[in-house]
Parts: sequence; C-alpha cells; structure tokens
Amino acid sequence: MKNIAIIYPNKFKAGISCLAVHILPVHLSNLGYKNINVYFLENYQQIKNFDAIFITLQYELDYFNAIKIIKDLKPKNPNAIFVGGGPCAISNPYPLINIFDAFIVGEIENSEVMREVIEKNFDVDGVLTNNKNSVKRIYPKKLGIEDYPIYQPTYKESAYGEAFLLELGRGCPRRCKFCLARVIYYPPRFRKLEDLIYLADRGIEINKVNKVALISPSVGDYKYIHELLEYLTNKGVQVSPSSLRADTITEDLLRMIKPKTLTIAPEAGSEELREFIKKDISEEDIFNAVELAKKHNVKKIKLYFMVGLPNETEEDIKEIINLTNKIKREIKQVEVSINPFIPKPHTEFENEIFDLTSKNKLKYIKKELKNVKVEMENFNSMLCQAILSRGDNKLGSYLYNSKNYSEFLRLLKKDNILEYYLNPENKPWKKIKVR
Ligand code: SF4
Repeated sequence: MKNIAIIYPNKFKAGISCLAVHILPVHLSNLGYKNINVYFLENYQQIKNFDAIFITLQYELDYFNAIKIIKDLKPKNPNAIFVGGGPCAISNPYPLINIFDAFIVGEIENSEVMREVIEKNFDVDGVLTNNKNSVKRIYPKKLGIEDYPIYQPTYKESAYGEAFLLELGRGCPRRCKFCLARVIYYPPRFRKLEDLIYLADRGIEINKVNKVALISPSVGDYKYIHELLEYLTNKGVQVSPSSLRADTITEDLLRMIKPKTLTIAPEAGSEELREFIKKDISEEDIFNAVELAKKHNVKKIKLYFMVGLPNETEEDIKEIINLTNKIKREIKQVEVSINPFIPKPHTEFENEIFDLTSKNKLKYIKKELKNVKVEMENFNSMLCQAILSRGDNKLGSYLYNSKNYSEFLRLLKKDNILEYYLNPENKPWKKIKVR
C-alpha cells in the first residue's frame, strides 16, 4: 500500500481555500489509493516513510517553504518521490527543476497521470523532469463531477470563511494580454448548471454550511450565472464570488449577491492603456458598476491596478489617481490595491521587462491618494516573484541557499545577475507546450 502526502506549502489558513488540496485526495481515492493525507506548514513534519509527496505550487513565493519542506522530509522519507504541481508547475517550474523529482504540467482529472507518477513512470504527457526536452500540458476537455470534493473542511478565518467552494469553471473567455490564468487553463470550460446545483446541494448539506464561494477567473462570464444565483439565493444560501468583471455586473447580480464590497479591477488608469492590454473595460462600464453599487447599498469599492505595464506613460499613472478620486466622489469608502506588473511566461507580455521604476510610481500614487487606503505588496517580494516566474535552472542553487526572498535577492545581487532576470534571454518555459 502506498502512502501519499499532499502538501500545501504554507499555513492551513491559506491552504484550506485552495481547491487543489480538496480535489487531489478525491481523485487519488478514485484511482484506488487509500492512504492519502493532506498537510500544511503546521504539520508536514509528521510525514515519515511515505512513497509519494505532492506539493502544490500556487505562488512563486512559496518556493522557499517548498524547498525547506523537501530538505526536512528527504531524510525521513528516503524512498519518496517529490512532485510539484499547480499553476507555477504549468507555467515555468525551471527554477526548481533540480530540486523536485518531477512536475505535473496540467490538470489531473480524466487522466492516469497521478498513477503513472506514483509508479515512477515519468515518461508520459503532462510530466516534466530534468531529463525531458519538452512537455505537453494535459487537461480534461470537460469538467465532470467524479473527482469533485463534496466534503470540504472549512475554517472561519480562511479567505472565504466557512463556505463550500464551488468551481464554476476553469479558463477565461476574455483576452487580457498579461493574464497567466487565461493561457495555462485554456480553453475556457464551464460546468453544467445541473452539476453545479447538485454539487452545491450536497456540499451545503454535508459540510453544514450556508455559504457558497463561486470559484472561476471571471464568475460573471458563466452563461447560467443568473439561474445559479437564483437557485442558491432562493434556498437562502449566501453567495460569494471569487471575482467579478465590472462589465458583467448587473442589477440582478447585485440584488442576489448583496455584496458589502464590490471589487473592480481596471488594472490600468486610462482607457487607452486598458485597450492596449486588452482589459476591455471602459470607463462607462466602471461607472455603471459604481452606479449600481450605490443603488444596492454597497459600502465599499475595492480597485485593483498595476503599474509598470508595457506602453505606460506618466499620464496613465495620473489617470489611476483621477479615476480613483472620481469613484470616491460616488462612494465614500474606496480602497486601492496596486502592484507592479509582472510579465508572465506564455502570455503576450512574456518578453517584456520588469520595470524597476515601478517602485517610485507606487510611492507617488500612494502619496497622491491621501484619503484612500492604498495596499501594496512589499516591492522586493514582487521583484522576487518576477524573477522566479521567468527564471531558469540556474536559480535553483540560489533558491536552495536562501530562506526567503530577501536572502535570495541579496545572493543574486552579489553575483551580479539580478538585472539579467528582469528580462531574461533564456526562456526555459518554451519547452512547455501549454496549447
Ligand atoms: S478577465 Fe481576468 S481571468 Fe480573464 S483574461 Fe482577463 S485578467 Fe485573466
């Protein structure tokens, strides 16, 4: 009998809202495996004499934890294979290629890829190792319900609180040029309405919750969203969407969801730049959404922007400030989350530079938006993310020898290679065929 571990390389509070940690055990159990356990940073040290250890890589900054986990677990699990998966494994796992035994490149449903890997057969589609020159992403053509986790442990303080996670679909029909989710989960696939209703009914009952979190890159683009919301709200269930595009917000949607906060992601301040990055949200869409929000007693608007986008001018930066102030005149409580643009592999912007001057632009915006709460990630953590997302295998030893992003950046600076990775010539991810 095989002992299999699934690890989310961060805290339980963060990992419990990740659908992958719920899907994988169901999928493996459907393949006939019995001894499957899920671990987080708090308890992975218990893993001993296991056969296969899967680590989901949702964010580049989790690489430091993932490496620590592997270092800690290797001596206690001498026969185990260490396998990475998740969005970072699909887009560009090359910085970690010598640290893991293999990566699963794609989505595991409707395939035997997990079994092949557990049996140490890496010579199949969807599996990348150090010895392979290319790999083809795998994914199910249709999303069924066989592997869907009905039982989902919940936690009050997690991203969605005590809610059943209901994945409407994967992939996105929109065309934003910067978006990684669009390219690594292509083509967009949505579940059938009757499947979603069945899953929601069972999920609510079994987990004894009264809230459903709708998971999809763009919830409002689901064709039957109104029908689904009507069904759930008529049952008295609270609904929380993971993301809504301003141009999909309607009167009905707000009436049924009753959000306290409405999130809008214009990404760029000016209409022109939004057009260029193909965000395709007009100022009119934004103000229609704000108008509807006002009418439906939404208390707060949260705006997401990026700086350092290709073709950006000083004017575009000023437009972020203007747009925010204009919205603030309509709804008192406005919050802005703003971060530097990170060029992602496989996207139309994969060859763009990571703009170090973004740091000053962020400072300027924060200074100008005095009466607005402005959130931004630590700039060096974003720089680290940018480097890792398009990095190659040479970064492996730097990662291996650093505990966190600050140490990692320091080592790169010391060897004078940080600049190179702002726009690297070597593009290892080209060996991954995402389409
Ligand atoms: S709408 Fe959102 S998920 Fe879809 S392509 Fe644009 S950024 Fe990506």
